Amino acid sequence: MDREWGSKPGSGGAASAQNEAIDRRERLRRLALETIDLAKDPYFMRNHLGSYECKLCLTLHNNEGNYLAHTQGKRHQTNLAKRAAREAKDAPAQPQPHKRKLALKKSVKIGRPGYRVTKQFDPETKQRSLLFQIEYPEIEDNAKPRHRFMSSFEQRVQACDKRYQYLLFAAEPYETVGFKIPSTEIDKAANKFFTHWDPDSKMFTLQLYFKVKPQEPNKPPPPPPPSNGPSAPPPPPPQGLPPRMPPAPGSQPPPPPPLFTNGPPRHMPPPPPMVGGQMGGYPARPPPPPPMQGFPAQPPPPPPR
Ligand SMILES: [Zn+2]
Repeated sequence: MDREWGSKPGSGGAASAQNEAIDRRERLRRLALETIDLAKDPYFMRNHLGSYECKLCLTLHNNEGNYLAHTQGKRHQTNLAKRAAREAKDAPAQPQPHKRKLALKKSVKIGRPGYRVTKQFDPETKQRSLLFQIEYPEIEDNAKPRHRFMSSFEQRVQACDKRYQYLLFAAEPYETVGFKIPSTEIDKAANKFFTHWDPDSKMFTLQLYFKVKPQEPNKPPPPPPPSNGPSAPPPPPPQGLPPRMPPAPGSQPPPPPPLFTNGPPRHMPPPPPMVGGQMGGYPARPPPPPPMQGFPAQPPPPPPR
């Protein structure tokens, strides 16, 4: 195109060629002025002498037009292409730092959530139930708390005791908290077991009913945990006491259901994928966990919105 332009019929001679070269630069300058916003050009710089520099090519220019003509020139375009190639080569590494940053952010815990556990008893069905209300005022945007049941032998925070299971709640950026509850089978009827997340009040609610064991009335109450002595029932925790001792569930001599949190990793192998996906960071035993009191594995968390 340039060649045709420079050899128009009827226009010959050196002076004419020079004029056309000037015309061409002018044309490029105008094109650049139309298409380039100098304020957004990362290479355009006005120096302290009042002239202009291309930071990419380290060239000096007397005025903006001259700089703009330069940006259309071979040298600048070549340097642009080189830089683009270099950045493309580095590009695969770029999304990862971003992801890593997010992951890091997730691991910065801000402490335990506030909670309330309410014991209930249904005189009709003789079922005991627990209502958990966990407050997550600082939960991450669009995040939803998750819960998970964990058998005593799956967890590693306390000594294994078949009489108990654990109910865990997790929501970033809070620490995961767990409640020790009787290992009695849980009634999964739709009107008995439910969870609810209220994004306005930032409260996660979970209600569960324990199934009534047919032979339960004839059986002596389960002995209290060894740490509480052979006969003395555990003292009720004072009201308003922070996390370690939520109110004991049930009306029978219940175990103190201590609240625990996921502490630092205890030289454990990484948890199996299912566990990691559910409650990352919570220590679990590597072999596939045995069935948890008939309670099925929780469905995977909903996809992020
Ligand atoms: Zn340049």
